[in-house]
Order: sequence, then structure tokens, then C-alpha cells
Amino acid sequence: MWKADSWLDQLYENALMKHRENAQSELPERRKEKLKQALGECVGEFEPNAGYTPILLERVECDDYIRERVELSATPGLSFAAYVLLPKEAKGALPGVLALHGHGYGSREIVGLLPDGSPDTNVPGIHQHFAVQLVKRGMAVIAPDVAGFGERKLEADLTLNPHAPNSCYRLSTQLMMLGKTLTGLRAWEARGALDYLASRPEVDEARVGAMGFSGGALIAYVAAVMDERIKAEVLCGFPNTFKDSIFAVHHCIDNYTPGLLLHAELPELIGLIAPRPLFLESGTNDPIFPVQGFNRAVRELQVIYEREGAKDKLQTDLFQGAHEISGRTAYDWLKHVLS
Ligand SMILES: [Zn+2]
Repeated sequence: MWKADSWLDQLYENALMKHRENAQSELPERRKEKLKQALGECVGEFEPNAGYTPILLERVECDDYIRERVELSATPGLSFAAYVLLPKEAKGALPGVLALHGHGYGSREIVGLLPDGSPDTNVPGIHQHFAVQLVKRGMAVIAPDVAGFGERKLEADLTLNPHAPNSCYRLSTQLMMLGKTLTGLRAWEARGALDYLASRPEVDEARVGAMGFSGGALIAYVAAVMDERIKAEVLCGFPNTFKDSIFAVHHCIDNYTPGLLLHAELPELIGLIAPRPLFLESGTNDPIFPVQGFNRAVRELQVIYEREGAKDKLQTDLFQGAHEISGRTAYDWLKHVLS
């Protein structure tokens, strides 16, 4: 056979068969530990930046919340900015949320700003200004700039094209050659942002969750698997199987982690968050994380949550829509489980 379609399908089926064999021969808790370790090794490890002092860059009074911008660092030689949104009328320590954007112009896209930092008074785009939605419900939110977007595009890309949409390709390929991944870096920095959020006096560090959309949900699930401080999570426009999404549709290279499918398919990896509360949201007409893959992932995750005795901790919302956030029940659910 010259064409490799069926050969690739067979490799995929062989990998799934191996997962089933391993799941049958190992105790569930042991398999979870091994998968967590494998995920960490596959996305790559990063050095901490213990001595770094956060810097307050700006503090702006908005109508019912304060918006700060802070400079942070999670690994030596690399800093990033993050927005911190704090409700004005807060009493006592607040629940906190790590808010992670996907492809677009960076954290400004989720805090109600345009790329130049001015207020966005238009109808919100696919990110729905979701960090603002969360702070308006009384949660303290941190929205870090994800590496490769907005102000974090590489000079090497901007020199070639001042309108380069992102630096995913250059960051991903060079990190992969070093045995690391851009997902690994982004999840590591997200956890650095979580360190900062948890250190704020306004925040109850025992009640911290995460919400991510699309590529931000990829970072959110990896961060939650690695970091038990994330007590609840909302994943939008992402829950699926590898087979139905990143194998079936052209995706940014930052979605691919070398070797990961040798260990598990995506639903089982997301299931490592169990028994912590988890909310899965997807649009019926999402072309890049298709609905049939979302439904498969939900069914697998329901089995995992039942096995963990946490059936009611898993909630889902399939809404009429495309690759976008709905939030029609997700925002209030997150507030409820962190309260
Ligand atoms: Zn990308």
C-alpha cells in the first residue's frame, strides 16, 4: 500500500489497545500516578525562578472592579505580564480563578480591552471577555499573557512580518528540539500566575479554580493535572478526543505533544483531574473541536467520574454555537463550586 491512511489508523488502534491493556493490568490509582508523571515528562520540565519579585505595572479603576497589570516570572530569563481583576465590593477572602485565553491577541482579549489596551466596547468576540464575566460574579481573576501571543510574540517573527498573528510555530519547534513543549512552558507559567494569585491577601488560596478556552483549556487541564491547588475547572471549546480534533482537523502545532498518545487519549488525561469538579463546554458547530468528539469525551469522562464516586462533580453544556465561549451556566457553576 502506497497510501498510509489505514496504516495510521492501525497505529492509533494499537495505541488504544495498549492503553486498555495497561488499564486492566494496573490499579486505577497507580495508573493515574503513572499518567500524571508521563504527561509531565512529555510536555517537558522547566526551571523555577524562586527569587523573582512581582512588579505592579498599572492599577485602573473600572466600574465595579479594579484591574491591575503585574509583571511575573516563572522561569529564569523569561517574564510575562498578567491582568489581575478584583471585585470592588468584596468582603473577606475571595475565590480565585486562573483565566487562560486561546489563540488571539492575548490576555487583553479576555479582560475587555482591544489590542492597544483601550476599552473594547464592541460586541465581545469568541472569548466573550470571560475574565470580566468572572470578576463581575465576585471572583478574583488572574489572566496571564500566554507565551507567543500579544506582547509575547517573538522579535524573530515580528521582523519577518509585523502582523504575525502569534509565535506558536517558532516557540513550539525549538522547544520540541530540546525535549520540551510550548504546552509545558505555558502550563508552567500558568502555575506561576497561580502562585501569585494565591499569595494575594484578597484571595482564599484554598478556593482557587481555573477556566480556559481552546488553547487556554489545553493549558488549564495540564496545569490542573499537575497542580492540586486548582480545586475546580472549566474547559471550553477543547474537550474532545485527539482522533476527532487534532488528528482530523488542521491545528496549530502547539496542540501536539510528542509521545503523549503512547500513554493515553485526551479524555483519560483530562480525567486525571477527577474527582475535582469539572465543567465541559462546547458549541454544536465547533469546526475544530467537533461535537462528535466532544460527546465521546463526555461519555468517557462520565465513566471516570462515576468510578471515582464523583458523578455529580462533572457537568457539561453543549450549546448552539461555534468555536466560542457560551458561559451561560459555566460562570455561575464555577462561582458555586468555589463558594
Ligand atoms: Zn498556537
